[in-house]
Amino acid sequence: MKSCVCIAGLLPVLLAVAATSSILDMTPPIRGLALADLRDTFEEVHNGHPHEAIDIAEARGTPVRAVVSGTIRKLFLSKPGGNTIYQFDAAGAYCYYYAHLDGYARDLREGMRVEPGDVIGFVGSTGNADSHTPHLHFAIFELGPERLWWKGKAIDPFPGLVTAVRRTK
Ligand SMILES: [Zn+2]
Repeated sequence: MKSCVCIAGLLPVLLAVAATSSILDMTPPIRGLALADLRDTFEEVHNGHPHEAIDIAEARGTPVRAVVSGTIRKLFLSKPGGNTIYQFDAAGAYCYYYAHLDGYARDLREGMRVEPGDVIGFVGSTGNADSHTPHLHFAIFELGPERLWWKGKAIDPFPGLVTAVRRTK
């Protein structure tokens, strides 16, 4: 009898694990991305701060695409990030962050549902990026139970991006 109780107690935990797997479902944020375009810059220090993101160098104006299905949670103009997008996954477990954007896709608004591959913005160098090296600054945050867009634990996006690029081959 006791073991039945234990299994029942585990069920919510197992469901929670299953619901937090959106990183494994990622598609590349840039169409035609190759493994050679990816470098793990998560541990680097940029401008005196831990980078905790991956930079992907692309020509200005290159479309940036949603990597998972979910919701546009916040469009935010920040001093370091420039034009940024905070996208929550469908479960509200992870936040996907796109920064230095030249601009947003037309009609993009907060609360909007997006699917993987949807164009949400364009590569640029807004914020503190060097204007000669436009790039996408891409980060993933694990959200806490309060699901605040500005508060999360940074997760290295590199393994997820590699898996996403490999899957397109
Ligand atoms: Zn960066």
